[in-house]
Amino acid sequence: MADLQPIIQIDLLMEELETLAQISEADPPVVTRVVFSGADLRARIHVKELCREAGLSIREDAVGNTFIRWEGLEPSLAPVATGSHIDAIPNAGAYDGVVGVLGGLEAIRSLQRAGYQPRRPIELIVFTSEEPTRFGIGCLGSRMMGGVLTPDHAHTLHDKHGHSLEVLRTEAGFLGDLTSVMLAPGHFHAFVELHIEQGALLEREGLDIGAVTHIAAPASLKVEIEGEGGHAGAMLMPDRHDALCAASELILALEAAAKSTGTLDSVATVGICEVFPGAVNSVPSKVRLETDIRDTDGARRDSVIATMKSAADEISVRRGVQISFQTVNADPPATCNPIIVEAVEKAAATSGLSCRTLVSRAYHDSLFVARFAPVGMIFIPCRGGVSHRPDEYSSPEWIAGGVEVLARTLAFLAG
Ligand SMILES: [Zn+2]
Repeated sequence: MADLQPIIQIDLLMEELETLAQISEADPPVVTRVVFSGADLRARIHVKELCREAGLSIREDAVGNTFIRWEGLEPSLAPVATGSHIDAIPNAGAYDGVVGVLGGLEAIRSLQRAGYQPRRPIELIVFTSEEPTRFGIGCLGSRMMGGVLTPDHAHTLHDKHGHSLEVLRTEAGFLGDLTSVMLAPGHFHAFVELHIEQGALLEREGLDIGAVTHIAAPASLKVEIEGEGGHAGAMLMPDRHDALCAASELILALEAAAKSTGTLDSVATVGICEVFPGAVNSVPSKVRLETDIRDTDGARRDSVIATMKSAADEISVRRGVQISFQTVNADPPATCNPIIVEAVEKAAATSGLSCRTLVSRAYHDSLFVARFAPVGMIFIPCRGGVSHRPDEYSSPEWIAGGVEVLARTLAFLAG
């Protein structure tokens, strides 16, 4: 593929990114595009129009995942796929997800301009609701594609106004049985997602491209600690079973567990702490915590959880409190396919771009596509590592570099 030269029109792509950013529920430069909102539906129409102009065919599944296809010389072969999401959390920016969709389209067009003909079909996927804003669950579309979210569970999902996923997707025109969304292993020959880093590593090191080797995955556990409440003045210290003091010990035990694994890839956070009754002169009787524990290695992450739980056993005996855990989710991390990682590195070298391997600490649709296909991810720098904010920014040079590496990687994988 060394003689292939994708012809990238970066000015056109930057204009298209700008236009899509204006399809928003908020005033520019703020991008707010919650799944199945008017802005999301208008953005979908706009993207599909651009794809039709490039001569691509379009299929949508029952939950609105969109498959945009460049036919291959051998149409019966499993496609090589790329893509990302165009939904955006409230008060977001113009690049998260969108760079992987419009950049994916530009990668295809750059190969078309170069006269390249893929042996395998190349598909651009726009995943429904990567962001958890509306239904409280991230990567809705890819999760269903990977069979991680079952149709039965999907039927129970509602937004905060009580509107069900079932009604909203039907009103948006996505019909058919949700059981048809799941894809079998082998459906894609390979999947490569282009995405802004959402961290500052590449920019800090002055690098153009990150070849992602692992995608970390969160486990989320709710913790309930029940002690004994009482009057803050009258209840003597030796008699206390203070739920918040027990919770404090548990939080520090979790921090220590995540710090003791010997790698920076283990992280643990307690982001929510509710204290009952929550009065200044009342000993806390009950505490609810929510924890987020992530790692690129599933076994190591689970060992951090196990350490927290054994600390909880010890704390509960010593302090005379009850501690219970409820697992909200525990998705396994994904390892990127070494052939795809190498293809990305080679594509960067051929393009004259600097590149390093890194891990994705945020999760992406690729995490769930990994359930049924070999995956890889291409990261490009974003200014200051800033994301999910209106001032999110990636330069035309960075984006053009990412698109070129994606185009070369797709061409290599599609034969
Ligand atoms: Zn994203």
